[in-house]
Amino acid sequence: MTHVHGGPHLRAAILAVGDELTLGQTADTNSAWLAHRLHQLGILAVEFNTVPDNLARHSAALRRLADVADLVIGTGGLGPTADDLTRPALAQAMDDHLVEDMVALAQVEAFFAARGRPMPDINRAQAQRPSRGRSLANLHGTAPGLWGIVNGVDVFCLPGPPGEMKPMFEQQVVPRLRPDPGRVVRTRALHCFGIGESDAATRLGAMMARTSMPLVGTTASAGVVSVRLRFEGPATPADADAALDLTERDIRTRLGEFIFGQDEDRLPSVVLALLRTRGETLACVESCSGGLLASMLTDIPGSSSAFLGGIVAYANPAKSALVGVDPHILEIPGPGAVSAECAAALALGGLERLRADHALAITGIAGPDGAVPARDGVPAKPVGTVFIARAARDQPADVRRFEFPGDRAAVRRWSALTALAMLRFHLAGLPTPKLLRQVSP
Ligand code: ATP
Repeated sequence: MTHVHGGPHLRAAILAVGDELTLGQTADTNSAWLAHRLHQLGILAVEFNTVPDNLARHSAALRRLADVADLVIGTGGLGPTADDLTRPALAQAMDDHLVEDMVALAQVEAFFAARGRPMPDINRAQAQRPSRGRSLANLHGTAPGLWGIVNGVDVFCLPGPPGEMKPMFEQQVVPRLRPDPGRVVRTRALHCFGIGESDAATRLGAMMARTSMPLVGTTASAGVVSVRLRFEGPATPADADAALDLTERDIRTRLGEFIFGQDEDRLPSVVLALLRTRGETLACVESCSGGLLASMLTDIPGSSSAFLGGIVAYANPAKSALVGVDPHILEIPGPGAVSAECAAALALGGLERLRADHALAITGIAGPDGAVPARDGVPAKPVGTVFIARAARDQPADVRRFEFPGDRAAVRRWSALTALAMLRFHLAGLPTPKLLRQVSP
């Protein structure tokens, strides 16, 4: 297929370059990020390709991709060392030769000068570009990017480090993109907790047909089910937004109280916002989640206005010493550390010690070891058994038992998110339904 340069960029191909990628030492996050950004801009990525630091493979890949797409974006291989072959590979794919770019050389020199260092000789190679190509300024590193035309197709070569690649894409590539002006892509996400993915899909019914527009799909992670809406096609942006609004209203009538937020909202940010609106505070006490809940909350800037702090009470002596759990609960014949009684005591202890309005407590068996066999009157507790308590001043604690799936990290994640979901239902003034993976009461 021969392309005439200057047409719209409809289909993109993405090329990731580097031995560390093909040897499996680094995961290719650049391609996913680029595909997502291109999609937001109305350009569909139709192929991902990964090649090692090998001149022949690299230039062959550039040629082949220029045949199947009308835009190629590559990342990596722009460093100063002998294994950084993007410059000659692009020149070869363009049937061109390399020349030194004076502006790029000045920029590489300026990068070193700004750090009070002379430019090492090997960095001079970074100022090279195909004679018919262009250098793209790098404000975050030494490696200038490249722009060339292969078989009539725009090829952009960006640095490998994501911290350099992303700003160069925004500053140097986005202004040069030509998405189809008549085609818009608009996306929206509604995040739910408390309903399983298949139940959500059943409620959404025909809305999820692959032929409807907006397209409606679901993804699930540790109890959070996200309903994703995508409008894609010929329309004005306003018409696309109106179509999304209509579909969103329909989804809200079907999933109602399970929806806790949209787009960038996350359970911790939503819970903190609800607490702030009410002028109330939260404390948490964690055993098997080891501080993950506190970490999720403190990931949100400004969380101290509502989140007072957390106690990691991991081993039994810490549960008594730090939170005042009665040793009779912890020791046999008591119900034990992984029990409703212990979860309630941890939550009430946290409430009191931190003088908070609300407290969440988590105690359980994250695995892979630690399953508790059945004993007189007490059923077995398999790995994944977690008790979560939500307590508020002057109210009885709401304690629930769960059996979460997955490995240690998954059980911790499910635990922290489920605790937040319990509080979110309460703060939103909604009855907390029986939650996913809840086994009692
Ligand atoms: P620099 O001159 O800064 O080294 P470069 O273009 O030569 O830039 P590479 O040497 O190919 O980049 O990669 C540098 C680092 O960037 C890699 O070690 C890796 O950490 C990261 N990186 C490269 N490609 C990717 C990718 N596709 N996804 C995520 N990270 C990547």
